[in-house]
Amino acid sequence: MRTPFIAGNWKMNKTVSEAVVLVDELKAALSGVPASSVDIAVCPAFVALTSVKPALAGSSIKLGAQNAYYEPKGAYTGEVSIGMLTGIVDYIIIGHSERRQIFGETDALVNKKVLAVIAAGLLPIMCIGETLAENEAGQTEAVLERQTRDGLVNVSPADIAKVTIAYEPIWAIGTGRAATSDDAQNRCAFVRAQVRLKYGDLADQVRIQYGGSVTPANAKELLAKPDIDGALVGGASLKAGDFSAIVKAVAAQ
Ligand code: PEP
Repeated sequence: MRTPFIAGNWKMNKTVSEAVVLVDELKAALSGVPASSVDIAVCPAFVALTSVKPALAGSSIKLGAQNAYYEPKGAYTGEVSIGMLTGIVDYIIIGHSERRQIFGETDALVNKKVLAVIAAGLLPIMCIGETLAENEAGQTEAVLERQTRDGLVNVSPADIAKVTIAYEPIWAIGTGRAATSDDAQNRCAFVRAQVRLKYGDLADQVRIQYGGSVTPANAKELLAKPDIDGALVGGASLKAGDFSAIVKAVAAQ
């Protein structure tokens, strides 16, 4: 019912030329994967987007950005507008935990960005997830409920299926300590239940990714779970062999 979706978040890695090399390697590694079996995106740094875009030609791999600002233009030094990305990317990651934790992004800002991405005709990947302290304090569901609710304010029923939600427990990101597949499934099912409260059965059309130390070794088990519709992959997305193995794990299911 939902096409699985694997996205690679390259973060602040790869020069422009390194990014193009990685794309060439990915195209070769993924050439046998039927496009209908899985949606794939890579999200390089802003400066690499216009070089990666033509390098992706002839493949089914889509392009995403890692962030954007919601204002259309103006005195916002260092920011990139969604309009500037239109025609280049299909997806924009919004509210990654590194944006929230290092750059102070709030649920309200995340919501403005999600709405602006949708208004531009692009597709947001909205990241949510609890810290280790919140997890250990038993606050995970409260955090996920708040982030889901506040991030989706004023997203219309007509647009909700355009949103991908990435559940990324912050303690699992870049640590090599992924959530167990059962825990990840339970959290993703909880998030879907939150979406269902507001949008009813449209929740069944919303893709919910798991992110946090996904590797070729754990991808198959995580992605076999019914409410996990794919993965947002950080570290393993920087190696063509690892990223393609994750994609193939879901494409084979
Ligand atoms: C991420 O940053 O979105 C992420 C999931 O990173 P990693 O796969 O490296 O844990």
